[in-house]
Amino acid sequence: MSLHLHDVTVTLGRGESRTTALSGLDARFSPGALTALVGPSGSGKSTLLAVAGALLRPDAGQVLLNGTDLATLTDRERARARRERVGYVFQSGNLLTGLTAEEQLLAALSLTGRSPRALRPRARALLEEVGLGHRGSHRPDQLSGGERQRVALARALLLEPELLLVDEPTAAVDRTRADELTALIARTTHEHGCVTVVATHDPVVTAAADTTVTMGAETRQTTA
Ligand code: ADP
Ligand code: MG
Repeated sequence: MSLHLHDVTVTLGRGESRTTALSGLDARFSPGALTALVGPSGSGKSTLLAVAGALLRPDAGQVLLNGTDLATLTDRERARARRERVGYVFQSGNLLTGLTAEEQLLAALSLTGRSPRALRPRARALLEEVGLGHRGSHRPDQLSGGERQRVALARALLLEPELLLVDEPTAAVDRTRADELTALIARTTHEHGCVTVVATHDPVVTAAADTTVTMGAETRQTTA
């Protein structure tokens, strides 16, 4: 899968709060490459992830997945692409209330028609990898913000997405954990060949990335 944002403009809000979050943005993302999305707060990083993940429609421009513009898909096709091909990790973790950490991973699987039973060992291994092996039976309200986001990352990785979008994964964890999460995301990207875009302020993530997209007055794309 390849991802190409072509001349994408997004405006958010209404009336006085109306803001141009992205203006004529162009960026290309390749399979097997980890892209660090950097830039000051408010520069449109989360908006770019939302557009790439088909959660938000741009006002203008194209979001091309393997050359197909998301705008040409029906709502049903877009929902299906999101469910089966995109792993989206919000800063807030976006977990389902009432399910344990392990159930969060397995419930996502059943939506895609895969067998939760067969993948339970893999789910447990992934929770270990994000440092939450001991939190498998905790519900979201029994987890910290950083822990919730790590459950969401494990859930996204279990689905082996073609497109992995992660919003500031190292912001709410300590340095050691941040380094482990960064290594896990990089390794997954290189092993599975997914397109990975990580919004971040963390120089360690940028150092581990294959390319960097710098948001700002003029968006730049540089390759390590
Ligand atoms: P970043 O993730 O880089 O911090 P965002 O993509 O969250 O930036 O936001 C880009 C811009 O859009 C910011 O200026 C922000 O204030 C604005 N913005 C975000 N959401 C809304 C909204 N719902 N209504 C109006 N403006 C918004
Ligand atoms: Mg953001």
